[in-house]
Formats: sequence, structure tokens, C-alpha cells
Amino acid sequence: MKITNKNKLCPSFRPNEMNKGLVYGVVSGTSKNPQVVYLEKPEKVTNALYALASPVHPTEIFKIAAPCISDKCKNWRADKSCNLAKHAATSDVSYDLLPACKIRKDCLWWEQEGKSACHRCKSWVTNTKQMTINHKLD
Ligand code: SF4
Ligand code: SF4
Repeated sequence: MKITNKNKLCPSFRPNEMNKGLVYGVVSGTSKNPQVVYLEKPEKVTNALYALASPVHPTEIFKIAAPCISDKCKNWRADKSCNLAKHAATSDVSYDLLPACKIRKDCLWWEQEGKSACHRCKSWVTNTKQMTINHKLD
């Protein structure tokens, strides 16, 4: 996956196409207190990998990153920022240590919000009601 400055990764992506995305973490803990375990080696999304999550939606099990779709996403703002990243960076649950996240150099949330996003990312699971995002993919 080629990353450019214009094409940073969204760490909370819900891919519509199976062949898009990179699994960089696995959700552990409980539904009330989820904790992400970050993968030493992120894996490209495949049908076989998604099948491992069945019967739940893959985003309940996996943390998936894919190129930010900017103005096609409802979280994108006119000032060219991601509102979901702002929300994540001010959420209640925060950890002292920065996670050993392998996508950091390409992550839009890190670029935009810095450590504030990373300190909270471990408890941030994409497929909950609070965090659901509706991408307007064409
Ligand atoms: S604007 Fe949308 S796609 Fe881009 S990083 Fe934010 S939530 Fe993800
Ligand atoms: S830990 Fe930081 S760099 Fe990694 S996905 Fe979360 S916000 Fe992005």
C-alpha cells in the first residue's frame, strides 16, 4: 500500500472492499473495557483473515487502517481535519504509555493529534455505537 502525505492512513476504517486495509491490532479485553493489542507485523486484509472474525463484524475484532478518504467521509471538516480524530484524542480513557503501533508514521490521527490520540487509541474500537462512522464510498 503506497502512502503519501495526501494519503495518510485512517486507523478507524470500515473497509467496504475486502482487499483494502491493513490489520494493525486485535481487540482484547471486554466490551466495556476494550484493549487493543498492536501487531508486531500488520497484515493485509484478506477474506481468510476476515473469516476468522465470524460471526461478528471484523471491525469488532480487528483494528483496520486504510487510506483516509477525506471529503468523502462525514468526519472530514472544511479545515481539512478529521473530527473523529479530535474526538478520540479527548476521550475519557487514556493510557500512560504510547502503544507500540507499527502504522504510526503513516497515521493521520497521529499526524493531526499527536500523542493525545495514541494515548487513547488502545481503548478505541471502531465498531461501537459511539465510534461508528459512515463513509460515503462511491
Ligand atoms: S476523515 Fe474519515 S476516513 Fe479520514 S481519518 Fe477521519 S474518520 Fe478516517
Ligand atoms: S496508536 Fe497512534 S499511530 Fe497507532 S493507530 Fe492509534 S492513533 Fe494512530
